Order: sequence, then structure tokens, then C-alpha cells
Amino acid sequence: LTFLGLESSCDDTAAAVVRVGPDGAQILSSVVAGQTELHAPFGGVVPEIAARAHAEKLDLCVEEALTESGLALRDLDGIAVTAGPGLIGGVMSGVMCAKGLAAGSGLPLIGVNHLAGHALTPRLTDDLAFPYLMLLVSGGHCQFLIAHGPEEFSRLGGTIDDAPGEAFDKTAKLLGLPQPGGPVVEAEAAQGDPKAFAFPRPLLDRPGCDMSFSGLKTALLRARDAVVAEHGGLPRQVRRDLCASFQAAVRDTLAEKSRRALAQYLALNPAQPCFAVAGGVAANKAIRAALETVSSEMGVAFTAPPLRLCTDNAAMIAFAGIERFRTGAQDGMDLTARPRWPLDQSAPALLGSGK
Ligand code: ATP
Ligand code: FE
Repeated sequence: LTFLGLESSCDDTAAAVVRVGPDGAQILSSVVAGQTELHAPFGGVVPEIAARAHAEKLDLCVEEALTESGLALRDLDGIAVTAGPGLIGGVMSGVMCAKGLAAGSGLPLIGVNHLAGHALTPRLTDDLAFPYLMLLVSGGHCQFLIAHGPEEFSRLGGTIDDAPGEAFDKTAKLLGLPQPGGPVVEAEAAQGDPKAFAFPRPLLDRPGCDMSFSGLKTALLRARDAVVAEHGGLPRQVRRDLCASFQAAVRDTLAEKSRRALAQYLALNPAQPCFAVAGGVAANKAIRAALETVSSEMGVAFTAPPLRLCTDNAAMIAFAGIERFRTGAQDGMDLTARPRWPLDQSAPALLGSGK
């Protein structure tokens, strides 16, 4: 099966062609057009600007993805598109574009949950069978899920406030660093002392695998203000130390909560327990390494997608579309864009198509 995938739920316009055959999955092309410069003057993603940019770039991305794959629409078996959750204008642009392509070519249309795209990525890049435990950690989400099937996820716990990706972005903003914050803060942190500042690791004293990251942001703001008051500015090395200490707090929280989620998961006696991480923050090397350590300590296999497949891309959407299509699912021209769409309610009946 070969699918074209479209992604436009946040600030990346993406198109990709993925093939799943007897010997596994293959990414034939994956085009990602970012919008960082467009949003830079505003210090965050502006939904109207994002929607317009998606509408303008989608066709070009599709054309490029097809050309790169060496295939034409008639060579494909279906079209998958992110139908939510995300910024509604962008999701609508993608859904409209996919509907047009499906109508024009007669190919099946498959709406995909963006979070399912992230959560299934470890199956695209590794030989991973259901069920597996997953930490989905991204710009807007942070949750432990058991993946039972392409559309069946049960949630063990997650953040009760901010997502770590959002915390990385806010940290960058507070320290005068560019967006997206994750990669920049990681690079600064590599040259800083993670023990320089004692930032909180909230909820570690409480049982379960819920997490909180909003207090960390406040602590960072206070620490920064104290440094600025003392030095009259933010010395380069102190900024690195702040980044390293912040990253260590996120890393430790995710690692400890993963330990607990794994214990809960292992109590269910899965046959070949495996732990996977995905989402933008999974691109962080310190965090990946900590999760890998926890997994090996608990005797569980660990997998994480390559960095470029952690952040938003359309290969994960094409792949999730194939996974959903194989269950017999298909959407009609009444497929709707959904701003909110929790992953543990991914039943096809909730998609709006009723199929
Ligand atoms: P969601 O998937 O929850 O709807 P999103 O699609 O905006 O949100 P992703 O593209 O999955 O999020 O991830 C982007 C987030 O990942 C950003 O907040 C970014 O700062 C963060 N991120 C990217 N690379 C890294 C990194 N190396 N370290 C930490 N965070 C990172
Ligand atoms: Fe995402």
C-alpha cells in the first residue's frame, strides 16, 4: 500500500509518500515546509498567518513529495490527512486539499488524528508490534498511552498543565532565544551546568504518572529575574546553566514518571514489553538517553524515531493513514476538521464520517 500524507495542524506544512509492503515501511519522500520566519516577529504561532501559509504551500509540498517519490497520483492507494487536533484554519486547509485530491483521483480519503500519527511513528521506523507503552511528548501534549492498535489507545496519565515542548519554547522566550525553543535550549544546555539551579521536579512525591510543568516555568522566570537583578543582564554562561538546569528538571520528571508508567504496564504482563517515545520533545538527546536508561533498568526494550520524525512531518500521517485503512476504515467527503480530538477517543465513529 502506498499513501500520500498531508500535515498542516500547526506551523509546518508537510507532504509525504509512504509505502508499506511485506518487508516493512518505506518513506519514499517527506517534504516539510516550516513557517518559523513568518511567526518570528510575534514570538509565537499566529493562527491566521499559519492558515494562510498552509493554504499557499500545500499544493507545492504535494507536488514536491510526488516528484521526489517518482510516483503520480494514479500510482497511489489512498490519501491521508491530519483531521485534528490542531489550529483549525490549518487543519481545514489540509482537509480541503486532501478532499480535492481524493475527489479528482477517485482514491480513498483517510482522516488521521495528528497524535495517532506521532504515537504510531515508532512502528514506521522500527519493527514494533502492538501492544506497547508510549510516551507522547510534544509541543501541546504529554501522556503515557498503551497502544493496542492503530486507533485504540488507553491513557495511563499525563501532564495536568503545560506540555514540555511548550515549556522549552517559553524557556527560550524568557531567555531571549529564538523559536522553536527545544533545539536551541538543548544546544545551550549542552554547555551548561545542570546542577547550577535547583528547579522543581513537581508531583514526584505523589503516586501515579501524572506530571506538572507549569511550576518549572515560574521557577525559571524567578531565577532569571534574580540573575538579571544581580548582574544587570544575563551572562552567557548563566544562560547556559539555566538551560541545562531546566532541561535536567524536565528529563528527571519524564524519567521518573516513565519508571512508574512502566511498572503499571508491566503489571499487566505484556508478552514482549516495549517502551516507545515520540513527539517533538523526543528529539531531545538528553531525554532520549534518560528514557533508554530507565527502560534497560526495567528490562524493557526501548525505541525512539529518528529526530526528523519526532517533530511534525507528513510521513507519520501517511503511515497512520495506511494503518487505519488496513482496519477497513475510510472517510467520506463529510470528513470534518476537529480542533480537539483526544487520542483515547479515536474510535472511527467519532470522526464525523460514521464509517
Ligand atoms: P502536538 O503534536 O502536541 O499537537 P506540535 O505538533 O506543535 O504539538 P511537535 O511538532 O510534535 O509539536 O513538537 C514541537 C515541540 O517540540 C516544540 O515545542 C519544540 O520546542 C519541541 N522540540 C523540538 N525539538 C526539541 C528538542 N531537541 N528538545 C526539546 N524539545 C524539542
Ligand atoms: Fe505534533
